[in-house]
Amino acid sequence: MTATQDLSARAIAQLVEALARYSAPGAGVTRFVYDDAWCEAQRWLVVQAKARGLEATRDRAGNLYLHDASVKPGARVILSGSHLDTVRNGGTLDGPYGALAGLLLAAELRGATDPPVVGLVTCEEEGSRFPGAFLGSRSMVGKLAAGEPDSAHDSDGVKWSAALAGAATKGCAVAGGLDGKPTAPFEIAAFLELHIEQGPVLETEKLAIGIVDRIAGFRRLRATLTGEARHAGTTPMRMRHDALAAAAEIALAAERAALDMGDPAVATAGAANAQPGLFNVVAGSCELRLDVRHVEASSLERLAGGIESAARPIAERRGVGLQLETVSHQDPIAMAAEFVEVASGLAAERGVPSRRMASGAGHDAMILAAAGIPSLMLFVPSRAGISHSPDEFTEPEQLAAGVQFANALLPNLAALAGRRTR
Ligand SMILES: [Zn+2]
Repeated sequence: MTATQDLSARAIAQLVEALARYSAPGAGVTRFVYDDAWCEAQRWLVVQAKARGLEATRDRAGNLYLHDASVKPGARVILSGSHLDTVRNGGTLDGPYGALAGLLLAAELRGATDPPVVGLVTCEEEGSRFPGAFLGSRSMVGKLAAGEPDSAHDSDGVKWSAALAGAATKGCAVAGGLDGKPTAPFEIAAFLELHIEQGPVLETEKLAIGIVDRIAGFRRLRATLTGEARHAGTTPMRMRHDALAAAAEIALAAERAALDMGDPAVATAGAANAQPGLFNVVAGSCELRLDVRHVEASSLERLAGGIESAARPIAERRGVGLQLETVSHQDPIAMAAEFVEVASGLAAERGVPSRRMASGAGHDAMILAAAGIPSLMLFVPSRAGISHSPDEFTEPEQLAAGVQFANALLPNLAALAGRRTR
């Protein structure tokens, strides 16, 4: 197979379809880190890499690197890839598209750039199995919380460290566990991640490529409301301290705060867990989960702060206790400005319809960029902006256009990365 054929729409669609077969039962694709489908998918990628003359190296977290045999541990490389894991009942593209692109680009550009291009397949980006998300890319750059491999556990109570040891015995990770030191076997000069947009902008504007210049930061807030559980039939309305009604009002206040700030501010009350959770009892307590995002750090602070200060008087007026805590947060991250420039210039030169845009979703590129690695993301259109669903779809021609653009771009990024001195 010649390289050019390998980057064709037909070839890429076949690879996407073949990889999607590795899934737990159910609708769409369900591939949780270290489970059988995930390990089989990873092994299949190694077979694909070998068929294209590449070697495969795994690290202690279960990330996979696809590279020429001449690229030895410790070498300075440009990584291109994305994640292999999916959400439950997810689609065929969120993650796998970028992982397959990394494989194809490493093969296509073998020996053509300095630093060399290495395909990257990360693990547990979605946080579908273990809380925390980005476990693979955070492992790569030594950004795990102290004790995280033992404190993080899945819904069955299996510790991350134990699940990882199991993956190592299956040959899907290198044995040795995680000690907080970076697991990446190479010095990472730059990172390029291809991904579906997961939003409707490129499709609506009929563009082929989104050049991501920044990734939104987020705050995850947990509001714990404590009221009084009372009989729903006998407690007059004015004598209630209803934790769920207070949570509902706070959810609406969060929505209002984001609407008032305007795009790209977003605030979401994704879950409300009321107790005792019965028809006939006023909710005595309620845990409300809020996700707040913005691409500007100061606006993100203002939005999160505005929601907090709206919540307190709501709770007070209703005589409900309120405890607010930030569960996790990530500041907005800029992609490497010179990479954004070069990509924009190349798109203009080649007549590829593109635009610069922010990513509202977090990605591995956010983690690597935050660790000081010059990084860039390219988006391809998502039909109707749908992702995390079996309905996720991008035309094969659009997938191929993304990989072909990256193939033209990477030598330019290599030239820039090569000039950097450390
Ligand atoms: Zn993704």
